[in-house]
Amino acid sequence: MPIFEQVTKKYRSLRFNNIANTLGELIKKAEGAEISYLQFSEMLVDYELEQRDQNRVQFNLRRAKFPQNKRLDEFDFKVQTTITKKQIGQLLDFTFIDNRENLVFIGPPGVGKTHLAIGVGNKAIESGYKVFFTSALELIEILELAELKGELKTKINTLLKHDLLIIDELGYLPMTKQSMYNMFQFVNACYEYRSLIITTNKDFANWADFFHEDNVAVPIVDRLIHHSKLFLLGGDSYRLRAKSSA
Ligand code: ADP
Ligand code: MG
Repeated sequence: MPIFEQVTKKYRSLRFNNIANTLGELIKKAEGAEISYLQFSEMLVDYELEQRDQNRVQFNLRRAKFPQNKRLDEFDFKVQTTITKKQIGQLLDFTFIDNRENLVFIGPPGVGKTHLAIGVGNKAIESGYKVFFTSALELIEILELAELKGELKTKINTLLKHDLLIIDELGYLPMTKQSMYNMFQFVNACYEYRSLIITTNKDFANWADFFHEDNVAVPIVDRLIHHSKLFLLGGDSYRLRAKSSA
């Protein structure tokens, strides 16, 4: 076997697949740059580490299951003035995730709640966090299915492998008693253990009123808003605005 193939095979056996896949190019680049042996050895290991990072980010992006790819740099803070770029920027050191705090984006339809949630989620993934996005409706289905199979705890534990869980469009949903109980199990498991981003078009104050008689809903809301940062978004729907200016 030619020496080049032998060397790449050895790299592969050590799982340095990125080096193995690119060795020829890396050698050429080093020859062109006339770098030292030490610099070359650094170049190889740096390449492997960078590629692993990138692959991890790509993997975690797919795993997050964002319904659309929304980025914070596409968000126009001149249109949405009820929140500032600085307020969002302050979240991006992700101490809120490290401290297991929740973010709640509250506001009417079309004001950018989901866009911001996905945007923050994207940045969190780039910073190495594991994120999972789900709509509240979908979450209820996921939990219901698991509960029917007697696997509610297992399913919740799987969800809690993520550092940040985004629950989109939480609101008053016509939930069965069992669904409420499942939701409570989930929220309770997250409480002070994992971070949530919630988007909702209901004011939490009204929520509590709404669920007044309900002895499951109140503790759910209570756990969601304890240790949380609330953002009240207002203004006109961006969707309608885009339509009327078209
Ligand atoms: P909500 O979740 O509050 O109903 P979305 O985040 O889904 O609203 O926003 C509706 C659409 O308008 C999306 O396509 C979103 O990307 C876009 N959008 C909303 N606000 C802004 C903004 N300030 N800048 C850029 N796009 C925006
Ligand atoms: Mg939305």
